[in-house]
Amino acid sequence: TKFEALGLDKSLLDAVSDMGFETPSEVQEKAIPILLESETDLVALAQTGTGKTAAFGFPLIQKIDGNSRTTQGLILSPTRELCLQITNELQLYSKYEKNISVVAIYGGASITEQARQIKRGAQIVVATPGRMKDMIGRGLVDITKIDYCVLDEADEMLNMGFFEDIQDILSNTPNEKSTWLFSATMPKEVSIIAKKFMHSPQEITV
Ligand code: AMP
Repeated sequence: TKFEALGLDKSLLDAVSDMGFETPSEVQEKAIPILLESETDLVALAQTGTGKTAAFGFPLIQKIDGNSRTTQGLILSPTRELCLQITNELQLYSKYEKNISVVAIYGGASITEQARQIKRGAQIVVATPGRMKDMIGRGLVDITKIDYCVLDEADEMLNMGFFEDIQDILSNTPNEKSTWLFSATMPKEVSIIAKKFMHSPQEITV
């Protein structure tokens, strides 16, 4: 399969070729058509290094409305490093999209500066759970209108003790959104989150 067969817009295909990606990875081949074609929830069992950032990143970018400054997509990830890495990748993928802004929110850096970036309008927010919860509590970010929520490395986030934070954050999001959960393993806490916050998700394993 080629990227052209997955249903991606030209702007994304151009970014793909600039990145030097030749063929989609397995998780990309399985996830991208599902996420582009329907507003479904998805559980994907995939390890790191499998290309999962693009598997959720391409469909997310394609579905975001660049004409609206509202935050439409939220990605939760376990660490500051991963948060920055995802943000960086999404910025590269969206280089030919007009007006799509991706902002990273994580602990250990200035909350004022992050709040300023959010205020300028971030359609996609990539966040660690602790800082996200803090910023919601202070009214510095609004996720009540998101259409898409990605839980990346869900097992890692729960291992790190973010069970309560994730539940608090998801409780601040609308019920009618799509949730895409990526995890290397499916321990009990991940299943609890999936059962509580997702609606008959499609499942893929790579
Ligand atoms: P990830 O699993 O999302 O962290 O991706 C691992 C690495 O693979 C990143 O450096 C990506 O830029 C790269 N990558 C993702 N998809 C592809 C692809 N289809 N072809 C080549 N490299 C890729």
